[in-house]
Amino acid sequence: MKTILNLRYNRYSSSLSIIIVIILFSLGGFSLSAQQPTMTPANTNKKWVLVIHGGAGNANKDKMNDEKNKAAWLKIKETLDAGAAILKNNGTSLDAVETVIRMLEDSPLFNAGKGSVFTAEGKNEMDASIMDGKTLKAGAVAGVTTIKNPISAARAVMEKSNHVMLVDGGAEIFAKQQGLEIVDPSYFYTKERWDELQKARQQGKPLQKDTVTHHGTVGAVALDQDGNLAAATSTGGMTNKMKGRVGDSPVIGAGTYANNKTCAVSCTGHGEFFIRNVVAYDISAQMEYRGMSLDEAGTHEIMEKLKMQGAEGGLIGVDKDGNITMPFNTEAMLRGYITSEGAEYIRLFK
Ligand code: ASP
Repeated sequence: MKTILNLRYNRYSSSLSIIIVIILFSLGGFSLSAQQPTMTPANTNKKWVLVIHGGAGNANKDKMNDEKNKAAWLKIKETLDAGAAILKNNGTSLDAVETVIRMLEDSPLFNAGKGSVFTAEGKNEMDASIMDGKTLKAGAVAGVTTIKNPISAARAVMEKSNHVMLVDGGAEIFAKQQGLEIVDPSYFYTKERWDELQKARQQGKPLQKDTVTHHGTVGAVALDQDGNLAAATSTGGMTNKMKGRVGDSPVIGAGTYANNKTCAVSCTGHGEFFIRNVVAYDISAQMEYRGMSLDEAGTHEIMEKLKMQGAEGGLIGVDKDGNITMPFNTEAMLRGYITSEGAEYIRLFK
């Protein structure tokens, strides 16, 4: 194309073009499709990737409630397809991760938004965060009880305030001012989570995992056609947690991190350990400063570093080149990905 444009249009090149066109017509090989390689729009063939998790935990295969797990699997499939539609149409990684997290927050099957777990005093306190790998801007909310979609509040904090994190009542007032949907706290109730709280109260400790089915915290990471990375995480936290406890999910660098230079990461698991180890940022740092691959860094973090500390969990990540990692040291982690190359994958167990 460039060469064609650079041709000086003079008498000789003009008559040469006419001769070439006549030859092509006489050979029957002149068609629009024959011209297409030079007409290809800028973004065609550009890579995009979306990875989602629905929480890590210990799911006992024998006690699995098939119907619930099937429903969760289908939900992951539906969200992957919805996110893919955005990325395919040259949408941003930020829009893709926010959209899929909203869908998972609206589903009672996951520990985020509706279906969040209960605190020790029987309330739903939710945390969420989002990060833009292009600008390194980030937004988070923690301990919110009335915002229908905490992830959208996190995005509003990132884009419409000068801050990174708002908590509790302040976050709720801000979300309302931004026109986000506010609901009565009872909206988040599900019987299954309430029963889990009763079980945890009897055991007298925070329940991180559900031993019957595991559909927990939700996270998404994406690479868009412009090469921009984004990460988002949303959770109700841990069953029977203390009032006011904040986990890793809304802590930028711990549960969520994105940087176009390296990768986008969303974590799930025992939040206190993920905060202490600054897990999501640590993976980016290992890549940036030690030249590790995403998979090396992610696997080391989950399977060695955290495991040695007795910390359970997992993470999903995508790097700037579209490579994916999904390590977990629990029995299960619901996870899936979809790519521009046509790959689609969803799994619960190893
Ligand atoms: N990381 C979340 C928290 O500690 C819980 C989870 O991912 O299961 O709040």
